Amino acid sequence: MNTELFEINDENRNTDASKEAIERAGKILQGGGLVAFPTETVYGLGGDALNPESSRKIYAAKGRPSDNPLIVHICRWEDLSQIVKEIPETAKRLADAFWPGPLTMILEKSDKVPGETTGGLSTVAVRMPDDQTALALIRAAGGFIAAPSANVSGRPSPTLAKYVQEDLGGKVEMILDGGQACIGLESTIVDLTDKVPTILRPGYITKEMLSEILGEVETDRAILPEGSSQTPKAPGMKYRHYAPKAELTIIAGEEKAVIRKINELVAEAEKKGLRSGVIATETTMARYNASLVKNAGSREKEETVAKELYRILREFDEEEVDVIYSESFAESGIGQAVMNRLLKAAGHRVEEAGEP
Ligand code: AMP
Ligand code: MG
Repeated sequence: MNTELFEINDENRNTDASKEAIERAGKILQGGGLVAFPTETVYGLGGDALNPESSRKIYAAKGRPSDNPLIVHICRWEDLSQIVKEIPETAKRLADAFWPGPLTMILEKSDKVPGETTGGLSTVAVRMPDDQTALALIRAAGGFIAAPSANVSGRPSPTLAKYVQEDLGGKVEMILDGGQACIGLESTIVDLTDKVPTILRPGYITKEMLSEILGEVETDRAILPEGSSQTPKAPGMKYRHYAPKAELTIIAGEEKAVIRKINELVAEAEKKGLRSGVIATETTMARYNASLVKNAGSREKEETVAKELYRILREFDEEEVDVIYSESFAESGIGQAVMNRLLKAAGHRVEEAGEP
């Protein structure tokens, strides 16, 4: 299959060529084809959410297990009532506060949504993304796009169109290039079908932000560090996702001790002839001796780390490092989402740095 790549940026957004490209992409989706598109979280691999054949194609293109449901993307609040049984008051309040934005809600599905899209579940995940290209595409496609992240299953989610091209070139009809995703980690998922709203996947919208709107909010124990042996409620969270090719280890502890420990591990690895990479931060990166040290961003602003993490993991793959050592991040706010993805990428391999 020939994959058309079309770039849409703030300069050409309102040109006829861009509008025609989105119309073309919308037609592809309506005809049962696949289009990858930018969102503010990561790139999505889209198909018509109401067409079971499209969902089957998405699973095939990604190599994704078919029990791992897709998120349905909408562009108008009014459309929600078509795909869910009922709209709880909590959903209305969250949408007012966070849509369009990086928040996915789990609700009871209506008969209109095929089981292929929801991995056989009676619930559906819904989100309204905050990206102009995505919203225009959803409208052009008829209102409902099922889209998981646009990576081959098991690879880091793509934050740039070139990574979508690498993973899915030749497997989708079209890729819309909207530049670097500004958040860089997948949406927060909150389940509204239980008595107490429950976070199934941490993201940019934090527990504190949700609690401000809803009051009591729980976190699925399986995604907390102490619950890593339990089965998560979001089927996708049980897979070892986001994995780089190299073995990744997180080093936890006080900054000085972490730097010393990582430098020791790097020296040991290099003695064995292994190429090592380090995930550092703005203020620490100059203090490492590894062959490849990457600056993930600033600790004061952990959203910068969220934005760069997947790009860094993919770059280490390109540079063929054998082992990666990473500093660890906060267990609160957006840092919790960063740590959640990093732990999965590391297969939960964490070493304590010891005494400073
Ligand atoms: P992705 O689109 O690749 O970010 O993956 C979507 C995530 O949403 C996966 O972890 C799914 O397991 C989760 N998800 C989608 N639909 C549901 C649902 N109905 N109930 C629980 N989790 C869901
Ligand atoms: Mg994904």
